[in-house]
Amino acid sequence: MSQVVILFSGGLDSTVLLYHLRADGHTLYGLGVDYGQCHARELVHAERIALSLEVPYQPSGVYGIPRSSALLKPAIPLPAATADQAPTVVPGRNAVLLSLAASVADALNYDTVAIAANATDHATYPDCRPAFLRTMSVAVELASEDRVRIIAPYVDLPKAAIVRRGATLGVPFADTWSCYRGGTVHCGDCGACAARQAAFREAGVNDPTVYEEQVCTG
Ligand SMILES: [Zn+2]
Repeated sequence: MSQVVILFSGGLDSTVLLYHLRADGHTLYGLGVDYGQCHARELVHAERIALSLEVPYQPSGVYGIPRSSALLKPAIPLPAATADQAPTVVPGRNAVLLSLAASVADALNYDTVAIAANATDHATYPDCRPAFLRTMSVAVELASEDRVRIIAPYVDLPKAAIVRRGATLGVPFADTWSCYRGGTVHCGDCGACAARQAAFREAGVNDPTVYEEQVCTG
């Protein structure tokens, strides 16, 4: 069994991974990172989910990432769900977050960092691709003298497969947060909501998420 620091955002993918690693018997430590997002709503969900599972959870922060992404600067419009999602890229985000998680893991004497990067993200987000994550693990292993490695169990899986796995694990999907906007419910209109909806549809799993248009139409 491993001792795992999991980058835990409270989103669908990292919540399924948390349930998955927990079911496999690993010792877990959830790390939620505020890196300057316009809203930190997902981290509220992360803390709530970790608490419900009695998994230790540490909110953390990274400062100084330039506000060149729509996720970090309200003046940059979020692209429509059908448009190129490039404005949502935070340059090198996972390099930063994985370095932080590896530092935490080494300090705690944990041997693994887990990230829920997946195949659905490859096209838009270069720091979710297998080659980057493999190389980042090598860097972390060198920096820690082989005490810490990175695992990305979902890197070759599409989001629909993660939904199916979550369904078998009994993940409370409604408690997770994917939306790029920080409303009271998912907007149903951004790229993250569209990917979430498509994943449930493709998986053939009921989507319990409340989307804004459902609220509007009663
Ligand atoms: Zn949304």
